[in-house]
Amino acid sequence: QRQRLAQIASTPAVTQDGQPIELLANIEQPADTAAALAASAVGVGLLRSEFLFMGREGRLPDEEEQYAAYSAAVQGMRGLPVTIRTVDVGADKPLDARHPSPHQNPAMSLRAIRWSLSEPAMFLVQLRAILRAAAHGPVQMLIPMLAHGSEIRQTLELIARARAQLQARGQAHGPCAVGAMIEIPAAALTAPLFLRHFDFLSIGTNDLVQYTLAIDRADPAVAHLYDPLHPAVLRLIAGTIAAGRAHGKPVCVCGEMAGDAAMTALLLGLGLRSFSMHPARILAVKQQILQSDASRLAAWAQAVIASDEPAELLAQRP
Ligand code: PEP
Ligand code: MG
Repeated sequence: QRQRLAQIASTPAVTQDGQPIELLANIEQPADTAAALAASAVGVGLLRSEFLFMGREGRLPDEEEQYAAYSAAVQGMRGLPVTIRTVDVGADKPLDARHPSPHQNPAMSLRAIRWSLSEPAMFLVQLRAILRAAAHGPVQMLIPMLAHGSEIRQTLELIARARAQLQARGQAHGPCAVGAMIEIPAAALTAPLFLRHFDFLSIGTNDLVQYTLAIDRADPAVAHLYDPLHPAVLRLIAGTIAAGRAHGKPVCVCGEMAGDAAMTALLLGLGLRSFSMHPARILAVKQQILQSDASRLAAWAQAVIASDEPAELLAQRP
């Protein structure tokens, strides 16, 4: 068994019909890059930068500390691409766990990009640190929890300003593609708007399920209703993947669904070619990919998302 896993690790992720699939790692710390490489990830699809901000009693990391951490992740991946998500605190990821959120409904409140845009000076610190790390290797930036055109405009303006500040300082920085997370139904339903402004999309299924079904992802009382296979969720995912293909721009899934081997065939059938997951999930998903014929899965995947009971059809894959 161990020999078989080692063999899968060294085999490129290509389907039976010859489609290359990108398998990326979700990480939280620069040191996690070792696990990503060991699991044969071809890059980092999600570096959750908030873990640099949390558990430090509200004292935020300055530009040098952030630059050092992001650069360490870039160097750790030895030339493979690293996608750094800007800070996503709030709701299930409180900045300071000792203090309860002052908001009535934290998951729908000042979270992720909303918090960043409410503190532009702090956000600029992070943006400069990411752009500087991009001088050391391929870096992409990913923006969480966007829903509004106005947020897209403000975010892109601040990125341009951060770049201009580095230029004025004469400080080294690198090119950096910018992507949007699709994790609010409003964003999935307006995917073409996002595709006009961003270089790529990444679907955050953990939050997309939460916000589509109005189920708190962290509340055990409603956990039985947290259903990634709800037809509404699947149709939002399918629509986003299809929009990306129509615009010729990459779409990734970086929520838990990407690391669930039972979902791999469906996502392939919907046209997904990039998956980002916990390093421990990569080999199991790769095993599914090596056995799958993506072209034969397409019609079945459309039937699954059109069904009122997708779970039943999921078991009948071709
Ligand atoms: C998601 O929402 O699916 C996601 C990847 O982001 P997080 O789990 O960090 O909210
Ligand atoms: Mg999320």
